[in-house]
Amino acid sequence: MKTRQGFVSNSSSSSFIVKVGEVFDNVFDVAEYMIPKREWDNDKELLAKLQELKTTNPSLEGICFRSCNCPTYIAKVDDHILVETCNNHDWDMWDFDSVKQVDDFYSSYGDADEHSLYKLPRNRDFYHLEFDKVGREVDYDRNVPIWCDTLECRGDVWVINNQYECVECGKIFKPKK
Ligand SMILES: [Zn+2]
Repeated sequence: MKTRQGFVSNSSSSSFIVKVGEVFDNVFDVAEYMIPKREWDNDKELLAKLQELKTTNPSLEGICFRSCNCPTYIAKVDDHILVETCNNHDWDMWDFDSVKQVDDFYSSYGDADEHSLYKLPRNRDFYHLEFDKVGREVDYDRNVPIWCDTLECRGDVWVINNQYECVECGKIFKPKK
């Protein structure tokens, strides 16, 4: 099982923003495009779940699944879809990036992470395709870890049913006061 190893060299997060209607119409389309590029054993299983979700939860605007060193988050924000993912995969997403196309983003701003357009919204629910959980990411200023402190896990801590829970192993965290 692949797990987050902390920050190892040559791996960091990578973000994309695509305009709805250009290549992808919704978060399902983006996930469907990206998941097979992981080339992981459970790709087919996740794609099947995606098809099911399209029917049962068509208005879903946040999807999450595992990727090499950090999870992939896909969120619809107004008429754009934001992707936060790990750069250790060849996603082939950059050509679709609307900000890069519009204003030659990198030469203007340098670091994508500094651009507010690339900030993943933390006030919305995501559906985790691998663990079938719905929740939102923990805010950085909370008194709870943002990653699970279980060494073999290192999953993201989410707010699920008003509790802080590791989305991967289910460990519950109580906020320090
Ligand atoms: Zn965990």
